[in-house]
Amino acid sequence: QIEVRHLSKTFTSKDVKVNALRDINLEIEQGDIYGIIGMSGAGKSTLVRCLNYLEKPTVGEVWVEGKELGGMLEKELLKQRKDIAMIFQHFNLLMQKNVVDNVSFPLLIQGVKKKEARKRAKELLGIVGLEEKALAYPAQLSGGQKQRVAIARALASDPRILLCDEATSALDPQTTASILELLKDINNRFGITIVIITHQMSVIRKICSHVAIMSLGEIKEQGRVDEIFSHPKTKEARELILKDM
Ligand code: ATP
Ligand code: MG
Repeated sequence: QIEVRHLSKTFTSKDVKVNALRDINLEIEQGDIYGIIGMSGAGKSTLVRCLNYLEKPTVGEVWVEGKELGGMLEKELLKQRKDIAMIFQHFNLLMQKNVVDNVSFPLLIQGVKKKEARKRAKELLGIVGLEEKALAYPAQLSGGQKQRVAIARALASDPRILLCDEATSALDPQTTASILELLKDINNRFGITIVIITHQMSVIRKICSHVAIMSLGEIKEQGRVDEIFSHPKTKEARELILKDM
C-alpha cells in the first residue's frame, strides 16, 4: 500500500551537502504496523516526511495506494494527504483551543458544519478514552493525554495511514505502553496502517509486525520483527537488540 523505490534525499545549504537518505526501498502493506528504527540523524523523520511529500525526494518514487505522489498536482496531493495523518513527539496541539476544538479543527477546515464536527470530535475522544476532558485545555493535560488528543485529531480526517514520528519519546514507560496499546487498538478496529518511528527497540517489539533498521541514511535490514529478533543479520540490528535487553 506504501511503496518506496530508490528514494534518495540530499539537503544542500551553503554548498554543504547532506545525503539524508540513500537508495531507500520499502514496502508497507495495508494494515501493517511498521516500525522504523535508528540512531539520531539516521534519516527516519526525513523518510516519513517523504511518505506524504512534506519533503520532496531528490531521486526516486513514493507510491501510496497505487498512486505515485511525485506525479501529482498540488491539489491532488492535498487530497491524498487526507488519507495520511501524522502525530509527533511534542503533540503539536493548539494551546489556545480546548480539547474538543483541537479535534474538530481539521474537520472545520474540510468544511464540516460546526455542530457535526463537534459531535464527531466527541466520538473520537471516546475512542481515545478522553471524553471527560473535552473542555480542558492542552496545558491542563498530562503528556499521555495530550498524545491521545493528537491521535483523536489525526483520526478526524478518517485516514488510511497514520505516521507516528517519535510519538512516545516524550513519555514515561507506562504511558508509552498505554499509547502503544491505543495505536494497536486503532489498527485492529479500523485497519489503519501505522508507521512508527522510534529509537527504542522495546517499542518495535511491543507492537510492530515489520521493521526497517536505518543507519546513516540507509536501510540496513528490514523484515518481520520476529525474524529480525531471532536472526539479526547486520551489526546494526544486533546492536539495537542488545541495547534493549
Ligand atoms: P532523530 O532521531 O534525531 O529525530 P532522524 O533519524 O529523524 O533523527 P532526520 O531528521 O531525518 O534524522 O535527519 C537526517 C539527516 O538529514 C541529518 O543529518 C539532518 O541533519 C539532515 N537534515 C534533516 N532535515 C534537514 C534540512 N531541512 N536541511 C538540511 N539538513 C537536514
Ligand atoms: Mg527524527
